[in-house]
Amino acid sequence: MEDQHNITTHNPSASQRLIDRFGREIKYLRISVTDRCDLRCVYCMSEEMQFVPRSQLLTLEELYRIGKTFVELGVNKIRITGGEPLTRRNIIQLFQSLGQLGGLRDFTLTTNGTQLPQHAAALKAAGVTRINISLDTLQPDRFHAITRTGELQRTLAGIDAALDAGFQRIKINAVILKHRNHDEVVDLVRFCQERGMDISFIEEMPLGVINEHDRAEAYYSSDQILHDLQQVYSLLPTTETTGGPSRYYQICGSDTRVGFISPHSHNFCDSCNRVRMTAEGRLLLCLGQEHSMDLRRVLRAHPLDDEPLRAAIIESMNIKPKGHDFDLTSQPVLFRHMNATGG
Ligand code: SAM
Ligand code: SF4
Repeated sequence: MEDQHNITTHNPSASQRLIDRFGREIKYLRISVTDRCDLRCVYCMSEEMQFVPRSQLLTLEELYRIGKTFVELGVNKIRITGGEPLTRRNIIQLFQSLGQLGGLRDFTLTTNGTQLPQHAAALKAAGVTRINISLDTLQPDRFHAITRTGELQRTLAGIDAALDAGFQRIKINAVILKHRNHDEVVDLVRFCQERGMDISFIEEMPLGVINEHDRAEAYYSSDQILHDLQQVYSLLPTTETTGGPSRYYQICGSDTRVGFISPHSHNFCDSCNRVRMTAEGRLLLCLGQEHSMDLRRVLRAHPLDDEPLRAAIIESMNIKPKGHDFDLTSQPVLFRHMNATGG
């Protein structure tokens, strides 16, 4: 059930910040610039996907207007995601324009890495501060099976390109599934250590219907991963944060941080500071709920005036839910897949 609210416009003062009903201040916007992708990861998409028609996507100019308005409302971190953001035509232009916004402390990208050899240098020049690259396995056959279509070598070349472009503190994101890649957590950490990168392990979330595997059976908890790593490494919990949901540990004697994104075992909703924009302009107030607001309608009704957009964003704080309640064992799950959500 979608919770699309009608928007009442009012004039917020210039200093108005985004604070929801539970006192949480929103400082972090994730923008999905496309739901399309050159891979088909089994936990993210079903084999047959219907994508949003291109005509319904926000234009790059509209995406910029939204980013700019959020920054004016106190957001200081924007992450560009998808789908695979680097498959969208001319996307570097959006990075260039958002990168100029004063007030943006952290400007980041989540990517599967396949297009980084072409784009890493331009992203750095545009002002992207950090990159997260998704990599679930170091074994080519497993990589092909998990992504359904991909070649490990291309993502590895993307990681090299990001390192060569001078990105610091690159983070690898790995979704861990029991009996698919759970035995690789130490190898993945070592891979990151050797390259001065961080890593976050992610528990699979029940977004969208998938038939490839049973999400409950594939569940491998963050605590189990931590336990596996502790057989090899000394890990110290840190209070460091990158403004996202990861809990971090430092590997003793190394720069590498190991993060855990644990929507099931360590719910992170109390400190939620973020909202997400889908590629067609739907502002999602929670990763795991359908509460949303149609910002595309507001944008297009007022092409030359950002004030209604600003008012709509402020209004949306009234429908931000307290949190998600993911349950791997019961149906239905949310129908929205992760590629449409903007992970
Ligand atoms: N295509 C880019 C990538 O893979 O990094 C960006 C979009 S992808 C949806 C963002 C992140 O969401 C990736 O790290 C991916 O592994 C993660 N992800 C996708 N589906 C997920 C799911 N069902 N549960 C948990 N994480 C998921
Ligand atoms: Fe594409 Fe990223 Fe989803 Fe994999 S996780 S299918 S790379 S959007």
